[in-house]
Amino acid sequence: MKLEGRVALVTGGSRGIGRAIVEKLAVEGAKVAFVYHSNADAANAVVEELTGQGHEVMAIQADAAKKDQADKVVGDVIEKWEKIDILVNNAGIIRDGLLAVMEPENWQAVIDTNLGSVYNFCHAVMRPMMSERYGRIVNISSVSAEYGNQGQVNYAASKGGMQGLTRCLATEIGRRNITVNAVAPGFISTDMTEAIRNAAESEIKKKIPVRRLGQPEDIANAVLFLASEDASYITGHVLTVDGGLTLGGV
Ligand code: NAP
Repeated sequence: MKLEGRVALVTGGSRGIGRAIVEKLAVEGAKVAFVYHSNADAANAVVEELTGQGHEVMAIQADAAKKDQADKVVGDVIEKWEKIDILVNNAGIIRDGLLAVMEPENWQAVIDTNLGSVYNFCHAVMRPMMSERYGRIVNISSVSAEYGNQGQVNYAASKGGMQGLTRCLATEIGRRNITVNAVAPGFISTDMTEAIRNAAESEIKKKIPVRRLGQPEDIANAVLFLASEDASYITGHVLTVDGGLTLGGV
């Protein structure tokens, strides 16, 4: 197992990509705490499934967009398991709409949840990771950060911001044996993409060179790599996992 003895914290771990990440890290031997926002049933199902298999997993309700709540989550995990080795900033939302008619609250909610939460949790784990002289931070960005998508100015701004934060923080804390990387998923089959999948799945598949939608496990595999010892010389990198969607040649 690649993560024996490690403690991981994943935001948005109750559904979709986050759930697959929680499962992957737990199966590889880490103790995993994850944050969910409102769907307690989904969170409890993850805990039941994994503890039933003998893994150590706990769910914590919190709003990742709120700094005081992020601080409390990190404090609670360290109180229980003494450290945090791996932080995966995955919590995210969409509130799509053309800028001309985008209400300020839909701009702010996406920026606060997708980007503010990354500051909140990175800041909260910084001192504990520095004193352990070990850390693996993985931020879940998106290919939307680099490719224009109508109706997603808020989302693209948040995901582009995450990539900038990733590179800057990597330069600040590399010497403390803490790496900071991002994964940029393409089109992944989760609740977030349900509406667009229902409307245009076969059209989307035609644009993906490997001719299938991504599954949450495809992203979890990349996160496991970046969170493991195998990636100890990789920092400040954005790893695109999109089946070739953004190559543009097909
Ligand atoms: P999802 O199925 O909608 O799941 C979102 C998760 O985030 C849920 O666990 C949700 O918890 C949690 N969450 C949302 N707001 C939160 C908050 N304020 N505080 C704490 N937790 C919160 O989304 P997904 O498709 O798995 O996406 C996961 C990440 O990948 C997001 O950052 C997304 O932007 C990114 N991504 C997704 C795709 C894709 O195609 N799906 C592509 C590129 C990037 P509750 O259920 O309790 O609300």
